Amino acid sequence: MARTKATRGSCVYCGKEFTRWGMTKHLQSCPQRAEQTGQTTGAGKSVPIFHLLVQDAYGGDFWLHLEISGQAPLQALDEYLRAIWLECCGHLSAFEIEGTRYTKKTRGFESLPGEKSWGVHVGSIFRPGVQGSHQYDFGSTTELALEVVAERQGVWRGKPIALMARNAPLDLKCSVCGKAAEWICTECLYEADDWFFCEEHLMDHEHEDDMALPVVNSPRMGTCGYEGPAEPPY
Ligand SMILES: [Zn+2]
Ligand SMILES: [Zn+2]
Ligand SMILES: [Zn+2]
Ligand SMILES: [Zn+2]
Repeated sequence: MARTKATRGSCVYCGKEFTRWGMTKHLQSCPQRAEQTGQTTGAGKSVPIFHLLVQDAYGGDFWLHLEISGQAPLQALDEYLRAIWLECCGHLSAFEIEGTRYTKKTRGFESLPGEKSWGVHVGSIFRPGVQGSHQYDFGSTTELALEVVAERQGVWRGKPIALMARNAPLDLKCSVCGKAAEWICTECLYEADDWFFCEEHLMDHEHEDDMALPVVNSPRMGTCGYEGPAEPPY
């Protein structure tokens, strides 16, 4: 199932479509974004604000351009990624940023040497160019790559993270008829070449339909019991 075309997504400020790299450039110069962020320079305390690119660690078909307040704890990013992309059954997760591992610190639990709490404010560890990863579920792991693209100063209001762009749903086809795929057969996922089905052909398929998971816009699609993201806003 070779995919050659880079996935595109639209800018939340102006609606124009770009690939993930095109979007990185575009967001730096989008006039509508500049207008909106310009309005936040008014009254209030100015804080560092970071532009983050988050993508699935393997294909890069799934991506998010986010803005995060420097005052937000790293944990807020974990919560956001769970809501938009990852949460299935409350698995553990961790970040690795510039060689340091950050995770939930629980009293009474032995932590790995050098491991830090993700209660740390991102402003103290993020700078443009900083790269890292996020792992959700240490069994059937979904691994994401993070990169701090840019930093600006501004007054931050509302939730600690804002979505600037995400990839449009992948154009996946039923392996029988070529119509839009709605289901993944997890039995076939590991053993066969074709695992995407439309509703009709899932019903005709040789495996039980309780082995099927819905096609959703997330890198965790088809993994564990993942059935899709929380409803926006995240
Ligand atoms: Zn734009
Ligand atoms: Zn799970
Ligand atoms: Zn079909
Ligand atoms: Zn199957």
